[in-house]
Amino acid sequence: MTRHALVAVPVPLGQAFSYGIPDELAARVVPGARVLCPFGPSRSVLGVVLAVSDEKLSFDEKKLKYITAVVDEHPVIPEELLAFLVELSRYYLAPVGEVMRLALPAVERSSVGDGATLDLLHTAGVSAIGRLVQVAAVVPGAPAPEKLSDKHRALLDVLRELGPTPVAELERTQKGARSRLKKLEALGAVRVEEKPAAADPFFATEAVRDVPPELTPAQARAVSAITSRIESGAGGAFLLHGVTASGKTEVYLRAVSHALERGGSAIVLVPEIALTPQLVNRFRSRLGEGIAVLHSGLSDRERHAMWRSLRGGAIRVAVGARSALFAPPPNLALVCVDEEHDGSFKQEEGVRYHARDMALLRAHRARAVCVLGSATPSLASEALVRAGKLERLSLPERAHRAAALPKVEIVDLRVVGAGPSGDRLLSLPLHRALERTLAEKEQAILFLNRRGFSPALICEECGHVLECPSCAVALTLHRSRGERVHCHYCDYSAPLPTVCPDCKATRLSEEGAGTERIEALLKQTLPEARIARLDRDVAAGLKSEAILDRMRRHEVDVLVGTQMVTKGHDLPGVTLVGVLNADSALAMPDYQAAERTFQLLVQVAGRAGRGDRPGTVVIQTRNPKHPAILAAVKHDVGSFVEQELREREDVRYPPFSRIALVRIDAVDEAVARREAERLASVARRASPPGVDVVGPAPAPLARLRNRYRYRFLVRGPARGPLRTALVAVARAETDRRARVAIDVDPVSML
Ligand code: ADP
Ligand code: ZN
Repeated sequence: MTRHALVAVPVPLGQAFSYGIPDELAARVVPGARVLCPFGPSRSVLGVVLAVSDEKLSFDEKKLKYITAVVDEHPVIPEELLAFLVELSRYYLAPVGEVMRLALPAVERSSVGDGATLDLLHTAGVSAIGRLVQVAAVVPGAPAPEKLSDKHRALLDVLRELGPTPVAELERTQKGARSRLKKLEALGAVRVEEKPAAADPFFATEAVRDVPPELTPAQARAVSAITSRIESGAGGAFLLHGVTASGKTEVYLRAVSHALERGGSAIVLVPEIALTPQLVNRFRSRLGEGIAVLHSGLSDRERHAMWRSLRGGAIRVAVGARSALFAPPPNLALVCVDEEHDGSFKQEEGVRYHARDMALLRAHRARAVCVLGSATPSLASEALVRAGKLERLSLPERAHRAAALPKVEIVDLRVVGAGPSGDRLLSLPLHRALERTLAEKEQAILFLNRRGFSPALICEECGHVLECPSCAVALTLHRSRGERVHCHYCDYSAPLPTVCPDCKATRLSEEGAGTERIEALLKQTLPEARIARLDRDVAAGLKSEAILDRMRRHEVDVLVGTQMVTKGHDLPGVTLVGVLNADSALAMPDYQAAERTFQLLVQVAGRAGRGDRPGTVVIQTRNPKHPAILAAVKHDVGSFVEQELREREDVRYPPFSRIALVRIDAVDEAVARREAERLASVARRASPPGVDVVGPAPAPLARLRNRYRYRFLVRGPARGPLRTALVAVARAETDRRARVAIDVDPVSML
């Protein structure tokens, strides 16, 4: 039997394909290498070699097709990452070729039609790494040369303090630095090296080097637990459970520095990189330019250059949102996941992976240390702590001594009336609190989980609700860019109709309030206050940073926004936080609704009183006795977790079972329903004892982008039996008019 390679090709089919290896390519066809393979009658695709084997093929050897070219001199995907990706594809029953794509930047994964494109790929690779900058650093341990001029000595001192620094940056602050560096280099005190440039909006401003603060005793304990595991090289996993503003970032920073000192590399995952410029800046201030910040604003070229630098080890820290988990630095020693409870770690399309769960897996396989940080740990992580698979490290107090946790007040929307604005969401107690905050020249954040002006339009004559023509949802009225209605689930948008589409009456009533309306009401009732809004409509991508910066410079008194305002911002001037409607998250048709509500409330409350002045939080709700709300009022994570875990156990939901959602959608409702019923019975027949199938039923969002949606739930006591049922579903033939998606460990239940 000739040797052949198992190759993952980027096609939506589950398995990898076997290809023959021509003798002249044999030395370079190794796991992780990209190869060009014939596919179908006339196509050529770029695949990744998973394994090379001598085993007998499952088909006639004469039918074996051969690899036509090897793209890279060295495999693009390191072995550790490759094995991890294969396991991820198994875990989520996702096509291995698509999983490989997660790890390859665009340039690396372009499909290649002919030799010409292949050449292009080669040169693109080379020229992109060509953007190097000169970086100067003190030679460790070298004695300071005698008889130096003051200027030379000063430069050396600066370098000692700053660590490796781009020469251009030194020249900017000290004229003549470049030539002085040459002399210092000749004397053996300084080394100047070419390093890949990291051109990037996150690097547009200079980071001021910070001096590491003295750790609090709790921080010191956490850091030493983590670093001693890094030291041991045997791996380990921690839950860093620290109240808001307890200084978790400082713990990550120390751990990352330690990993680097040991010659290792690190990956730091954050929920939404555009919302965390502060965290990124703190990493830069501490670690200098030696970090790659991966975010959606990068061009393909920039992403490619960073990826190359990481792959080659020139840069050893990757910071980014969930996809940074697939960064390729060698010697992975540490993976940190900040705000591990955050829903954005779950990818909701294509390969539906959860970056927090997979961070644990990747770190485990690499014998690296994994640190999951949160003020409100997910129940999944709490369960892992109880099972002895995560070690808890607690930071029970805020890092600044003066910063106590804020006082929380509940406003019962059923009985408390509106303030001067006339809208109940701006209740009288909240209005008074805003006035006090403004009088003290302090700042406030108001959180409402709805963007737009008003979330529904209803005909006053016939009660007809204006709906999206393609989705089963009400249209939202927006006013800030002309009077228009928008669907928040698809791209549909239209001018505000003047008559009811049903009965032609002319009176449409605007139901409820979104962030736009609250902003408008505040401007009327607090005319002297400077109001700003932060939601997806005003802040795409990096623009949110500008709004947060204005807040930080105190050019804004009241910030109104969606969940974008609840993330980990450190805004010391904020002393009042208002949650306008705590019930919206509770009302979701989802077993995790209470957990999400609790996390959201504690997180948003955590934005208040982070500086020297104490904070106040006003939570408005119609469910003042709900356990999630009561626990949030007391910042009582422990008792909430206990109670919620008991409830989950009663109803056999995770973490006391493993679940998957199978979603089926089609343009024709009958097709969607029939396929859902058929696949559900396939799942039932294949289910081992203990596994049950719930449904099918129409999804809560019954129609989306013109497709009818059905779903069923598969639940098992453990992953093995659940997988057996799911594999049967994945292998079943389906009507081509229906789309089927298997979502393992779903986060969104819609
Ligand atoms: P978290 O991520 O836990 O919400 P941060 O890392 O944002 O908290 O820290 C909150 C604030 O406390 C920041 O302003 C940070 O600079 C400060 N801080 C952190 N650790 C210390 C320390 N050991 N001594 C003094 N201040 C600290
Ligand atoms: Zn729509």
